[in-house]
Amino acid sequence: MTKLNSYLGGSWQEGEGEGEALLNPATEEVLAYASADGLSRSLALEFARTEGGPALRSLTFKQRGELVHKTAALLQKNRDELIGLAMTNGGNTRSDAKFDVDGAIATLQAYAEIGEALGDRRLLADGEPIQLGRAPRLVGQHVLTTRHGVAVHVNAFNFPAWGLAEKAAVALLAGMPVLTKPATSSSLVAHRLFELLIEARIWPRGALSLLLGRAGDLVSHLQAQDCLAFTGGASTASLLRNTPGVVERGTRINVEADSLNAAVLGPEATPDSETYDFFLKDVLRDMTQKAGQKCTAIRRILVPEALSERFRDDLADRLAAVVVGNPGTDGVRMGPLATSAQKAAVLEGLSLLARDGRIVHSRPGLKPEGVPEGQGFFVSPTLLEVEPGADAPSVHSHEVFGPAATIVPYDGTAAQAVELVSRGAGGLVSSIYSEDVPFVSEATLGLAPFHGRLFLGSVKIAELSPGPGTVLPSLVHGGPGRAGNGEELGGERGLSFYMQRTAIEGARPVIDRILKQGGVS
Ligand code: NAP
Repeated sequence: MTKLNSYLGGSWQEGEGEGEALLNPATEEVLAYASADGLSRSLALEFARTEGGPALRSLTFKQRGELVHKTAALLQKNRDELIGLAMTNGGNTRSDAKFDVDGAIATLQAYAEIGEALGDRRLLADGEPIQLGRAPRLVGQHVLTTRHGVAVHVNAFNFPAWGLAEKAAVALLAGMPVLTKPATSSSLVAHRLFELLIEARIWPRGALSLLLGRAGDLVSHLQAQDCLAFTGGASTASLLRNTPGVVERGTRINVEADSLNAAVLGPEATPDSETYDFFLKDVLRDMTQKAGQKCTAIRRILVPEALSERFRDDLADRLAAVVVGNPGTDGVRMGPLATSAQKAAVLEGLSLLARDGRIVHSRPGLKPEGVPEGQGFFVSPTLLEVEPGADAPSVHSHEVFGPAATIVPYDGTAAQAVELVSRGAGGLVSSIYSEDVPFVSEATLGLAPFHGRLFLGSVKIAELSPGPGTVLPSLVHGGPGRAGNGEELGGERGLSFYMQRTAIEGARPVIDRILKQGGVS
């Protein structure tokens, strides 16, 4: 059986012991083992800092963008193989796996284009020179320069390709070497991706490192110039934020965590309207795509009280028609959860939510297609509802990371929609589906402080729309509060996490000379 190695200090390294089994979550077949036990995290970080950092910083944005472009092309060339691995190790349907791998390629390509547009610069000017004194001789200029540490990326299990690529694209374009630590359970994709990258010799020595297996003491070795970008659960995030080294040395950290994303149907929608249909389709897709294991998936469905019964029945009918089973079997639309631990957490979460309301659709005796009896980490798509005006504290505070959502009826006013959605205490994305522009405006302004992104669903954009669940490289991803209070992507904005903003005060000609030297004309 294959044992997967880490790529650290410029070579493949084998961890001690047998390692942890990576499974096919549909059949529970063991696919490989992974261990990073006994490998020195501190030496690996130091190698990246001293070899990869200087090599990357010697390149301009344009040159680094070209390498990002080559990386996108490499993934494109090996797309089918990566999709196949995401299906077997992630329990993804082909469509789910394409969402992950194509998302990775598109994000790399978007950052390659940003590199091309930034051209031959090594620093970024933030704004124009600001006159500070009575005469224009004394000015201040904000600049961004690349930090001298390592970008350490700790990723969640659900997007092994996209999660790795979206963080790596930004850090590498900014000029920082990357050490990626994928979630162990679904790390076959990240491992193969690294094999391809290392064979292709696209990046300078030390620019790329892979820690495959448990993180161990990785985070405790981070230094002041390093950046830690984490995606995962809130409890792991809290542990990492409070790691003594991180606290004492002030390591920069970005957290992408849980989110109770809401979708609001506007008060004017009727069951025969296109808006209603669009809303229904998006909710159905979000609940079942990747078996609901998407940080952006809709968890709370706000429907005007008068429509909630009808909507519940329509959605339940559609959920009943979703074929669940082995992603390799024809006709299967939803696969299993990624691990037995995820299945246990989802079932526990559903009982918690059911105390706030009731389950209105589920298939308890679900027999997944193409799977031996009793095998696989399958959970039925599950719809819950709460009474109008119910407190429902768990619905607004507990994320069930699976194919589940709760209908929360509201009185049709923007004020109540905002009040209910904001109980989620900070989200990645929420959406408003309505043609009533004053309602949309009021709800948007009310919800914006609580979210990193708002999706405004309307028949005018239905045909063009990727839906609220798709994270786009040009828009920020992240959210306040529960969502981790982080921010990634957003086009050029994303680079600033890996760069230091410095205000330079001095004589205008000196500042102009510095900008020129950094390639900013
Ligand atoms: P998790 O258990 O928190 O794990 C996330 C990552 O952290 C994994 O790579 C894990 O490695 C690693 N990790 C665990 N303990 C660590 C430690 N002590 N030091 C360093 N790394 C450590 O989360 P998950 O189960 O993979 O992901 C599900 C959660 O992620 C959900 O709550 C979801 O909302 C959230 N999520 C958020 C976003 C977003 O963009 N906001 C995106 C996707 C998922 P091992 O696998 O080796 O344990």
